[in-house]
Amino acid sequence: MEFMEERIRRDGRVAPGEILKVDTFLNHQIDVSLIRQIAKALKEHFGNREITKVVTIEASGIAIASITAEELGVPMVFAKKSKSRNLNSDTYKSRVYSYTHDRYYDIVVNENALNDNDKVLLVDDFLANGQAMQGLLDICRQAGADVAGIGICIEKSFQPGGKALREEGYDVLSMAKIKSLENGTVEFEQ
Ligand code: 5GP
Repeated sequence: MEFMEERIRRDGRVAPGEILKVDTFLNHQIDVSLIRQIAKALKEHFGNREITKVVTIEASGIAIASITAEELGVPMVFAKKSKSRNLNSDTYKSRVYSYTHDRYYDIVVNENALNDNDKVLLVDDFLANGQAMQGLLDICRQAGADVAGIGICIEKSFQPGGKALREEGYDVLSMAKIKSLENGTVEFEQ
């Protein structure tokens, strides 16, 4: 989407390790009207799929998921990053590898927040190797919830996450697709 590409061109910063910093508008300081535009685009694409919940991972997915859930008129659920090894038996749990922090963490969702009557829209700020999304899909599988689609703000399409999800049959809609961050320059897919 043009609005997202423009904003990345204007305010995105490329950091070492092919990381795009979007701290001034998406995941630290947040431009809520930009999030509203993202949410409306997601609603336009996924709005007729009888979605019952929007699901994301804390922390940076929460703003996007909240406004999207409000647009769709459904609750939002965020998977919590758990530090505790003594997890309750009434939680779904999955293990995720973090590309940006180079470590594993567990994500958990309470059984009472997701069940086999739910039809879910998964959202996140970035899609890179797809580990975070695979963790959320694993949790939906455990809950027996259907996945109606996946909404992403920024897909780094030079990493394999998006391709793998599409090959698995998921409808992935990304607001911007980045083909390269080489030499500190952002190049978008056409
Ligand atoms: P994945 O699990 O798809 O490899 O990575 C997705 C997660 O890693 C996102 O939730 C996001 O927080 C983080 N991430 C991946 N690449 C970037 C990046 O270039 N910039 C930022 N800010 N976060 C990223």
